Amino acid sequence: MGLLYEGKAKQLFEGPEPDTVIIRFKDSVTAGNAAKRAQIAEKGTLSAAISLKLLELVGAAGIPTHLLRWLDERSFLARLVEIIPLEVVVRNRAAGSIVRRLGLERGRAFEPPLIELFYKSDELGDPLLCESHIQLLELARPDELQQIKRLALQAQGILKAYFAPLQLELVDLKFELGRVKGKIILADEISPDTMRLWDSETGQSFDKDVFREDKGELGATYLEVARRMGVR
Ligand code: UDP
Repeated sequence: MGLLYEGKAKQLFEGPEPDTVIIRFKDSVTAGNAAKRAQIAEKGTLSAAISLKLLELVGAAGIPTHLLRWLDERSFLARLVEIIPLEVVVRNRAAGSIVRRLGLERGRAFEPPLIELFYKSDELGDPLLCESHIQLLELARPDELQQIKRLALQAQGILKAYFAPLQLELVDLKFELGRVKGKIILADEISPDTMRLWDSETGQSFDKDVFREDKGELGATYLEVARRMGVR
């Protein structure tokens, strides 16, 4: 089957049916726009299993997603979507770039959650956007943007509530959304590559920050998340 796109952590292949794609998770991890990279055994299969479970979870709660079905241990079949080039970040606490950009104290709580929109462009370094920029660049119509923010907030609420009893606090996460026949749906992955999870007791990171900040072994970290979720 034809390779459509090779990303930093995933490959996209033509699907076996019309308007489908195969999303295959690689064992690679990158940070800082690929300035830092590594191969981690089992990372692809763990991210695939975690993503599948989380996409199923939000799907079951009525949020439309691109997930169609599980294919093998590192791939699932998804609907072909026209990706909207926005990274929609929802934050419950300050961490990462917002700490650096706004000088906030790490861990500061946001109630209600804060939404930030970034332009998905490696070339430009994924800049933060104002809504006027989104209109200027014609990335999404105003009504679509409302829908995008609504879906992202709903999905994060479901995920936050799911992780709480697993002793994992959902600190922030990034969604990508796309259009299928004019409808906005959730796309991409939902994994410790795209969110921050802190142990509710110890505050220990159970996400890609372990790699970004050399805080431990990434494979073991993702395995622990998968275990708490019951997918390993
Ligand atoms: N994120 C992501 N892809 C990106 C940038 C961020 O998945 O290209 C996720 C990141 O893992 C975190 C959230 O979005 O859970 C917020 O990231 P932030 O803006 O703090 O940037 P970072 O500190 O990760 O560079």
